Amino acid sequence: MFKLCYRILKVFLVVAAVGAMAWQGRFREDFEQYKMHAIPALMYHSISTVPAGWPADLCITPEIFEEHLKYLKKQGYNVVTAPQAMVLLKSRQNVMNTVMITFDDGYENNYTKAFPLLKKYGFRGNFYVVGKDVGQVSSQDGVKTYMNFSQIKEMYQQGMEIGSHSMSHDPLTAMKPNFLPWEIYQPLNLFYEKMGFWISGIAFPNGAFNEAVIAEIRKYIKYEYGFSGQAGCNTLQIVTDTPFALRRAGVYDRGGGATDVEKVLQKCYVYGYLESKGVPVGLVDKGRRFIESVVR
Ligand SMILES: [Zn+2]
Repeated sequence: MFKLCYRILKVFLVVAAVGAMAWQGRFREDFEQYKMHAIPALMYHSISTVPAGWPADLCITPEIFEEHLKYLKKQGYNVVTAPQAMVLLKSRQNVMNTVMITFDDGYENNYTKAFPLLKKYGFRGNFYVVGKDVGQVSSQDGVKTYMNFSQIKEMYQQGMEIGSHSMSHDPLTAMKPNFLPWEIYQPLNLFYEKMGFWISGIAFPNGAFNEAVIAEIRKYIKYEYGFSGQAGCNTLQIVTDTPFALRRAGVYDRGGGATDVEKVLQKCYVYGYLESKGVPVGLVDKGRRFIESVVR
């Protein structure tokens, strides 16, 4: 009797192990398939050491930023602008290893440090600039120096994407509706007047938006896309159904060098994958930890 039980248990264990392996294989395949049609976006701010009075998470040194770029180059990533990403997704091509690198706030070091490094690796960047700060030096919360119009225009002429980060950088969701036109329309107008080209994108300050913000943006046909603060990946479905809620995740210096960017990319793919399977956002974080342990 004992021998029989032992045999049954053994058979059961083997079947369970084979089943788990098959499930894992299928899961892996499905995940890789998802990655062929998904483009993550990375978010940076200041490419500098941390100036006095600044939150550390806004800054990554040029040396570490270059480590991130080297990693992307080594992995064979195609680094594109947001309009390019949307064209690629809409053409239903395989976009495995395609990524967007974005910068918020328009700090001058985006021009002096990030721009030359991006060019060095043949990458394109996306820069979201606060209208009222262009060319300014502000001393609120530590000294901040912002790019001027001729620097921004030069980047645009060399293939970089330029977009709006609103006029004031105040959260658009906390604003009286009658201020929204100024925040949203004015950058279109201002950048065209000062630099001679139309922008088509916006990155919401703090990633925050609501129905009223989207309704205001949709009034101006020049706007084609907007970045939310939600982690995940951009897919054909997202760029078609919710082009003003593109997915994006912040990259921070956690002391891991290239590993820090590798982890953020993995997070984007896993969040995006779970989202594509209809997993509620509240559960995504739990699911992510499980999946990361499987795909590692
Ligand atoms: Zn910002």
